[in-house]
Amino acid sequence: MNELIGRVVTFQSNTFPSNSDLYGKLARDGQSPKALMISCADSRVVPEFIVQAAPGDLFVCRNAGNIVPPYSQANGGVSSTVEYAVMVLGVRDIIVCGHSDCGAMKALANPGSLEGMPNVAAWLRHSHSAQKVAAEAYPQAGDNDRARIIALENVVTQLSHLRTHPSVAAAIARGELALHGWFVDIHAGEVLGLDGKTGRFTPMTADKPLPVALPAAQRLAADLLQEAAE
Ligand code: ZN
Repeated sequence: MNELIGRVVTFQSNTFPSNSDLYGKLARDGQSPKALMISCADSRVVPEFIVQAAPGDLFVCRNAGNIVPPYSQANGGVSSTVEYAVMVLGVRDIIVCGHSDCGAMKALANPGSLEGMPNVAAWLRHSHSAQKVAAEAYPQAGDNDRARIIALENVVTQLSHLRTHPSVAAAIARGELALHGWFVDIHAGEVLGLDGKTGRFTPMTADKPLPVALPAAQRLAADLLQEAAE
């Protein structure tokens, strides 16, 4: 039997029966995942493993390079997933998760490798600002560091794209949504979190608060106008 089919049979005969109460509840009551994770499609980064998620816990959107196109650029799968997660599921946290040794980020570091892949090249344009930041703001970095720097800056870039989506912007303004930027070091099994206050990634450890890129807090730029009117 094909290996993948064998695994499906194992799911049906072992995994599902041992979790049938949970699946039954989810089928009956629907899903209410607490977070949306946008991660790379890389097979070595498994969002559900990283957050120890059970079925129903995590809404996931994966693509090459953990990219979120800006709202005005594309009506595609990522935009629709983000909108549904915020508007219908009411997720309170969105995590953009990059990783080490990322093929997409290595391609940005070596654009010649994209020849013959017009779709990948066009998709990765959404990461060109990270590529430029890496090229111009890290003059001392060597070639070996380039893909890692782009990957870390790319998480920052995609978080800023996320905020161009009206559903996200409105939930942030209401104080109902926090944004997180994570980076998985595959070789070390370590997850770094972006601290919005310092702008840097730091390891997540049990003795420190979770680094948050943008904490949930009401943001109304027009507060002053309201006060002036009172
Ligand atoms: Zn990747």
